[in-house]
Amino acid sequence: MTSHFEIVIIGAGPAGLAAACAAAESDKRVALIDDTPWLGGQIWRGQQTSSSIPQARQWIERFRRSSATLLDRTAVIAVPRPGELLVEREGGSGEIHWEKLVLATGARELFLPFPGWTLPGVIGPGGLQALVKNGWPVRGQRVVVAGSGPLLFAVADGLQHYGAKVTTIAEQASWNRVVDFGLMLLGHPSKLFQAAAIKWRLRDVPYRCGVWPTKAEGTEQVRRVTLTDGTRTWSEDCDLLACGFGLEPNVELPLALGCEVTDGFVRVSKWQLTTVAGVYAAGQLTGIGGADCALTEGQIAGYAAAGNRARAESLFAQRASWHHFRSALAEAFALRPQLKTLASDETVVCRCEDVSFGKMKLFNGWRDAKLQSRCGMGPCQGRICGGAAKAILGWTPESVRPPVLPAQVKSLIST
Ligand SMILES: Cc1cc2nc3c(=O)[nH]c(=O)nc-3n(C[C@H](O)[C@H](O)[C@H](O)COP(=O)(O)OP(=O)(O)OC[C@H]3O[C@@H](n4cnc5c(N)ncnc54)[C@H](O)[C@@H]3O)c2cc1C
Repeated sequence: MTSHFEIVIIGAGPAGLAAACAAAESDKRVALIDDTPWLGGQIWRGQQTSSSIPQARQWIERFRRSSATLLDRTAVIAVPRPGELLVEREGGSGEIHWEKLVLATGARELFLPFPGWTLPGVIGPGGLQALVKNGWPVRGQRVVVAGSGPLLFAVADGLQHYGAKVTTIAEQASWNRVVDFGLMLLGHPSKLFQAAAIKWRLRDVPYRCGVWPTKAEGTEQVRRVTLTDGTRTWSEDCDLLACGFGLEPNVELPLALGCEVTDGFVRVSKWQLTTVAGVYAAGQLTGIGGADCALTEGQIAGYAAAGNRARAESLFAQRASWHHFRSALAEAFALRPQLKTLASDETVVCRCEDVSFGKMKLFNGWRDAKLQSRCGMGPCQGRICGGAAKAILGWTPESVRPPVLPAQVKSLIST
């Protein structure tokens, strides 16, 4: 498979969908690539689950009406040469050539290690939500939802809807910060309404601010979680612990392309252009701001890549408003320093290669740790332990090696 497009977009979440619509409606030959079988990324996950969400339905229908080509179940695994992507699709591989590229690869959950965090039944809130949306049964299960950010709220709501008994939501951010964030929402009525509706549905579930998990216990499955507010410590019984400390962007492809990344996010101009000519970025890659922010940035990137600067510029004010929301989100849910000290020496940090925190501490950084312990070199390629190592040890990877997603050897040697 070899194809050529004027504009290629990687990621079919809100940012990529919006970019594809904007670029295709500007009369460009556009391809939208995603490794999943659905449109809508992490939040919408395809027509089937999203058809009840009007915003998702609108965007997916707009995309289907456009002239853009959808390459789903297609993973971009490497960047062999400028202007070229190596992709894997249906067991085979191929090259896709682009003149302009929009990166919209989104984010993943951030996990911080604490004793017991690798027990079965301890799972990321977003991951649990995805499983439940696809039919995983949680009816009657007692779930503690812990960590940080508004996603905890959305997930607790979803779990309750599917019959789980959410016993506690433990938010590590302080009450004051969460209240300030709530007041800021007055400037974003749609978000305020959404939050108020969820809070009403969760009115019987305790929402504890300034509380975080320190230990999960159980033999074959998590059965109890220990929570603390810094002065008081207590345990709660549970069947599942949904725990995540926010999101971190998937910057592997931007880094492989040579894009500058500052404070963990891809640096972009007002046109969403990265520091590499012809390469744009939008959505969670440039900051964790939610789906509306991703949609706005995606449109700007799509229009700008298509040379339609007037349409891009008409969205600048809307983007500024979502960036205000995004900054407030980062400030309110900034991680407290105590979370860096949850792991004991025995706590496994790299769960693919079984490397404990005590062992990792002996090394000077990622390179040293990889060479001597294989930490970060297992199937997830550091996607789980990388975020943890950055948060608790301050390590950042020195380079990105292909493939950026698990791939077949035959695909790699074909380049
Ligand atoms: C697990 C999880 C669950 C979430 N659930 C919610 C929720 O319920 N409510 C909510 O408000 N927010 C949720 N979020 C936050 C959500 O990510 C944002 O609100 C919004 O969807 C971000 O849009 P995006 O387009 O930037 O990225 P995403 O929606 O993350 O889309 C990125 C897309 O790029 C694809 N991709 C990445 N790399 C490659 C590659 N190399 N090749 C091909 N395709 C690739 C991914 O498969 C994905 O489909 C969730 C986040 C995560 C990580």
